[in-house]
Amino acid sequence: MGNLVMGYWDCPVCGSKEIRGDVVNCPSCGRARGDVKFYLKTVREGEIREENQRSDIEYLTEEQAKYVSKNPDWYCSFCNSLNSDNAQTCNTCGASRADSESNYFDQLKKRQEKEAAEQAAQPQVSSAAPKRSRSPLAVAAVILLVIVGLFMWMNGRKTVGDLRVTALNWSRAITIEENRLFSESDWELPAGAEETDSRRELHHFDSVLDHYESREVQRSRSVIDHYETYYTYEDNGNGTFTEVSHQRPVYTTEYYTETVQEPVYVQVPRYATKYYYNIRRWTPSREVTSSGEDHNTAWPEFTLAENEREGERREEYLFTVEHTEKKNQSPATYAVGEEFWNTLNVGDQMYITAKRSGSDPYISDKDGKEITKIRQVR
Ligand SMILES: [Zn+2]
Ligand SMILES: [Zn+2]
Repeated sequence: MGNLVMGYWDCPVCGSKEIRGDVVNCPSCGRARGDVKFYLKTVREGEIREENQRSDIEYLTEEQAKYVSKNPDWYCSFCNSLNSDNAQTCNTCGASRADSESNYFDQLKKRQEKEAAEQAAQPQVSSAAPKRSRSPLAVAAVILLVIVGLFMWMNGRKTVGDLRVTALNWSRAITIEENRLFSESDWELPAGAEETDSRRELHHFDSVLDHYESREVQRSRSVIDHYETYYTYEDNGNGTFTEVSHQRPVYTTEYYTETVQEPVYVQVPRYATKYYYNIRRWTPSREVTSSGEDHNTAWPEFTLAENEREGERREEYLFTVEHTEKKNQSPATYAVGEEFWNTLNVGDQMYITAKRSGSDPYISDKDGKEITKIRQVR
């Protein structure tokens, strides 16, 4: 059992404050204390005090403590006043303790429950009013909506009709490859190679575990250094409080060394046979081209030398269009499939549909229906 500390109470009848816990009748109005809640003058409810922070605690003297019962006051059912556990009859009206139905704590609990119920029944004014200010989330949502809208608009298609073909271009090219002799080396001899030399050479290093080495490592851990005492105050329900002591550990960092075994590796060279050889490979060496501005397309003429062969073929068919209405718009050149290009002539009107960003264009009818895909080159 800890030290006893003097409690205080306020008179609910006349409002008199800070009446000592060992006084049972209000010094102002003379009424016996009833619906009260005991408190400490300098310690808040639930407050913790350290060992050296207790100079303001008002301990009962040994003499005062003698008369304090261990139990809470009992409640008189007839006159609603609190009576000491030592008393067998009501100090105020003389009623028997046998008729008492509750003590200080029962009554306090009942009162607190009632207050909580009243609090809950009150309409919540603050949360009922709608918030006027825009939350950052709402602002972000609006910005996102604008971005998505802009993206969808840019992704939307637009058909342009005031276009006239002003030029046609075609170009064709053939890559000529030459059969050349290369001197190379590798770990394997490729098919068709003519070996000139072979020798053992360093291929790579392998990491091989050689031994373990002991090493001391500094480590730390948290350990309990000592315990310290702190205090709380419990309502005894009779005008006094009990100071209860508690222990809590205080930690410190402990340093220690640990021996660890660390593997040590050695780099072991691995050798393999390397082949040196001559090999013939077909390599692009030159290009022959043809081009024109009419429909007379032809592949370029060429003569192959003895060590040459024909390689890749490329062809491109272009048309240029200009705006007939918006003269300030610069002309654009597109690549199109050969079959469609053959049907095009200078002076033709056409519709081109593209995304508003200009990407993914195609030749269309006036309603934007696709006829053939094209690719803008300039
Ligand atoms: Zn009073
Ligand atoms: Zn009474």
